[in-house]
Amino acid sequence: MSSPTLTLNDLIRTRLEEIAEDLWQNDRVMGVNHGDGRVLQLGTAAVWEQWACHSDHGYGLCGEPLVTATQASTLLGMYSDDDPVPNPSIPLIETELLDEGVGAFLPDALFHFSDVTREFKKAQG
Ligand SMILES: [Zn+2]
Repeated sequence: MSSPTLTLNDLIRTRLEEIAEDLWQNDRVMGVNHGDGRVLQLGTAAVWEQWACHSDHGYGLCGEPLVTATQASTLLGMYSDDDPVPNPSIPLIETELLDEGVGAFLPDALFHFSDVTREFKKAQG
């Protein structure tokens, strides 16, 4: 008999692989292994890069780090998850990500780091 914990872990791993595959197929978004990513810093806040954009928005390979809505809020010093970057210059990528705190897959979005930086500068005045 298999342990239920193992089964849940298998489900999560399968779903993570599916999401990563979809992101690559649809948006050329590539996952970054934990520890391999760049440290993204704005002001006093910093997060690890988890995703990178390998898309061509019309001027060659993008290569920019992408941050989740939660990471964007953290970097911007906001405590609400609503729309951390209301008018991104590069459209956000909607996806589903594992929320480790909740232990479930929730709808999320990926923003280009340059858009978060722009938002940060705007907030600084
Ligand atoms: Zn890009």
